[in-house]
Amino acid sequence: MIPLPTARQRALAAHRDRSGGVKCFAAAAPGRVNLLGEHTDYNGGDVLPIAINLECCAVISHHDAGSRAEVHAVDLRDTAVFEADDLDVYRAGQRTHAAPGESWRAYVAGVLALMRWRGPGLHITIAGDVPRGSGLSSSAAFEVALATALGQALGQSSDPIVRARLCQRVEHEFAGVPCGLMDQAVSCVAIPGHALLLRCREPVSFRHVPLPPSAEVLVVDTLVPRTLASTAYAARVAGCRAAAGLLGVKHLADASPIPFGESLIDPAHESGEDLAPLVRHVTTEQARVSAAAAAMEAGDVARLGALLNESHASLRDEYRVSCPELDCVVDTSVRSGFAWGAKMTGAGFGGCAVVLAHPGASHRLAEHITSSFQRRFGRACSTLAVRAGGGAACIDVE
Ligand code: ADP
Ligand code: MG
Repeated sequence: MIPLPTARQRALAAHRDRSGGVKCFAAAAPGRVNLLGEHTDYNGGDVLPIAINLECCAVISHHDAGSRAEVHAVDLRDTAVFEADDLDVYRAGQRTHAAPGESWRAYVAGVLALMRWRGPGLHITIAGDVPRGSGLSSSAAFEVALATALGQALGQSSDPIVRARLCQRVEHEFAGVPCGLMDQAVSCVAIPGHALLLRCREPVSFRHVPLPPSAEVLVVDTLVPRTLASTAYAARVAGCRAAAGLLGVKHLADASPIPFGESLIDPAHESGEDLAPLVRHVTTEQARVSAAAAAMEAGDVARLGALLNESHASLRDEYRVSCPELDCVVDTSVRSGFAWGAKMTGAGFGGCAVVLAHPGASHRLAEHITSSFQRRFGRACSTLAVRAGGGAACIDVE
């Protein structure tokens, strides 16, 4: 079978056709999957993602002295023209008529605006291999690839974490997504074969942790639409903030775990919701991230898998952000005998699970999960074997 062209090959070939082979600057940046540390980021805790070996590629050449950027999104077969003076119309809240499929324009405008591009005129071509909208952060790959190529084209150098923050602002100010720094940080600074242990509080700090070679990473997308996700997410964020206030800590990740059987009721909240399960999840998850980093450094993949299983149970029972489809993928993986461990990944209520498969077993495990899922829900899920790849890099173009 002839392999399909990669994002790099598609972007470079399409750019050559558009720009006639003039000198160009190119960069690629990866998507990511989080191994451990769910809902810890906005609680000042740690996360442990890997960059995946699927990337987005941006290619740029100068075309004249003007202030127009003509941008072609290869995968969407769509082209848009941006004027340096008009980028603010793409700011979240100011856009009144973005047609479906045109959301990519806000990311481009955001990167151009925040990098203070005023000219010269540019041809930009972008293609990506990260599935869009699946929770593998194709949007961070897109922003970081474009920002890295543009930095080169405009002769602006910057520290990778500064670039990650700029791309995070693109999400906040242009896409209207109030995300943390994880996706952009891992897309900027990851190194192959390693996870990134990232502390999500100021000052942000990180460390690379080797992924044991005896683990294969399988991502399973339940394809459940995440309709509940944004309201439930906002409710969890508010609950954590209230709990931190009641416990007198700035970051809930620093609180002491609340024992089972004890409750934490917010007197200011009329529903009288018990916040103790939220605290239990956040504090035990924070401890699991540290334990996972230690297990990885010791090459103890069985321990790492057990921590994933514990994390899933906590997300399901305490934080209550799982769903039957995610639970099915995790239970099937754990019972198969082919996996070290599994959990949901991302905000929850659908989306993806991450499975640590035994070496050489990810193909068989994927078949096993797919058929169990089909039997239980009468429809397919999708599986993707990934490797821990490196962060954004400029590409040498002949
Ligand atoms: P995720 O980041 O989980 O994939 P998002 O909804 O945050 O999901 O980002 C998906 C959006 O990012 C797409 O709708 C599109 O606007 C943009 N995007 C990502 N990759 C590409 C690409 N290769 N071409 C055009 N737009 C892209
Ligand atoms: Mg995204």
